Amino acid sequence: MSRLGFLLDSDSCIGCHACTVACKSEHDVALGVNRTWVKYIEKGSFPDVSRHFSVMRCNHCDDAPCIEICPTNALYRADNGVVDFNDSHCIGCKACMNACPYDAIYINPETNTANKCNFCNHRIEQGLEPSCVVVCPTHAISVADLDDPLDPVTSIIAREDVTVRAPEQNTKPKVYYRGADAASLDPLRTAIAPDGLIWADTTADHPTVPPVAGRPDARTTYTTAHTMTWRAKVSGYLVTKGVAAGMMLVAALLVATGHGELGSVSVMAPIVAGVFLAITGVLLVADLKQPLRFHYLLTRSNSRSWLVKGAYILMAFAVCVGISGIGGLMNMAGLVEFMVLPTCAGAIATAGYTAFLFAQCEGRDLWQTRLLGPTLLSQAVLAGAAGFAIADVFGDIGNPIAVRWLLVGACGVTAALIAAEVTSAHEPHVRVAVSEMTAGAYRGKFRVGVVGGVAIPALLTALAMIVGSGTATVLTAIAGVFALVGMWFYEDAFVRAGQSVPLS
Ligand code: SF4
Repeated sequence: MSRLGFLLDSDSCIGCHACTVACKSEHDVALGVNRTWVKYIEKGSFPDVSRHFSVMRCNHCDDAPCIEICPTNALYRADNGVVDFNDSHCIGCKACMNACPYDAIYINPETNTANKCNFCNHRIEQGLEPSCVVVCPTHAISVADLDDPLDPVTSIIAREDVTVRAPEQNTKPKVYYRGADAASLDPLRTAIAPDGLIWADTTADHPTVPPVAGRPDARTTYTTAHTMTWRAKVSGYLVTKGVAAGMMLVAALLVATGHGELGSVSVMAPIVAGVFLAITGVLLVADLKQPLRFHYLLTRSNSRSWLVKGAYILMAFAVCVGISGIGGLMNMAGLVEFMVLPTCAGAIATAGYTAFLFAQCEGRDLWQTRLLGPTLLSQAVLAGAAGFAIADVFGDIGNPIAVRWLLVGACGVTAALIAAEVTSAHEPHVRVAVSEMTAGAYRGKFRVGVVGGVAIPALLTALAMIVGSGTATVLTAIAGVFALVGMWFYEDAFVRAGQSVPLS
């Protein structure tokens, strides 16, 4: 048994990119993506300047969040400690890319599956060294068996002042750097200048502004592009499952507090929830790079992944919604009442499980906020009340006044949670993400989300409560539309800002 790691000697590295090219050749890595690359940074002002190199790649972490989150066990730990992958199991959900705090994973544009450095494990099995080790002209890359104290490279790691990338993420990386400039390993200490990199312009997803308040320590002059992986479909899924969960929660709340007739809400709510659950499923499958493999979630499940747990939660909730709907349609009050508790539990789980899924995304610190769970629940109630407010235009929803109070209350709680999130003290990574969300690239979406999705609905609903009569129904329905559209804008700002912080 062994536990393999790399020692990367930045003092010896001459930045020739031979390792990058050898890796590309060994693994047929497509254009535009890399399993390993050499990052350049430059420090100082002319004529007192210096350039520093650091080789970037998968850290083969002992506590690998990519393995934890991978729903189909496509990423796995080999016997020699290497984090390897199996293309044929990958569904292209991209969760591993958000879980990895090191930008080590990319989507292979030819196979639409997640790829990364696998330590050339096919070569290791043949007793050969990884291709980057063989090709490096200055012996800057060495393999260590970290379980063998007599291994010469392991003893260098034990003896010398080596460091790892992002140790605060507690992933126990097994790629050690000797002589690396600290700024080259910390993406928050460097920035890509507005005039781009040495040989390339920047891409849309490359942050070009200093990522932390004040001046960056250095300028990044060469690195690779890392495109954002979760976008509008994921933001949409947060809204649609919120509506589904919220419709059932609000229906249960109304009935339980005597504000809703069993007959009126027990048909409408499950129908709307069912439709939005179906849209949720479509969005989730459509976001996969390998959508036809979606059933691997069930047939090759990694039970530790919240993508898998989430799939089971959504299915269980769909069953509850279906049974409740059948009970409502067939006027079986006993069945509907029997289903209230399991349906509520399913709705809460459906609304809230994403907080656990996002918490597994170790590379996206903004998403790991403890306020995410309460925010998702509050948004679900808001979405449900909005759904009821719109449904009020078309038919009987029980007690519209109770719905209005719920709508206003959920707006207030959601606003308070968002305010708490953006005004709390944060560690640097989250500070950058919050700044991008509230004052940077996503500020427009954030403001539409907060003003259009929370403030305006609350005001319109309050106005409706004052004016009463038929105008109130129309005003509250408009408030509902604002709430749902605004929620998508807020979610999209949150999802994108979380991915905006450079990791390499
Ligand atoms: Fe490699 Fe990233 Fe997974 Fe760590 S989390 S093993 S660096 S892919």
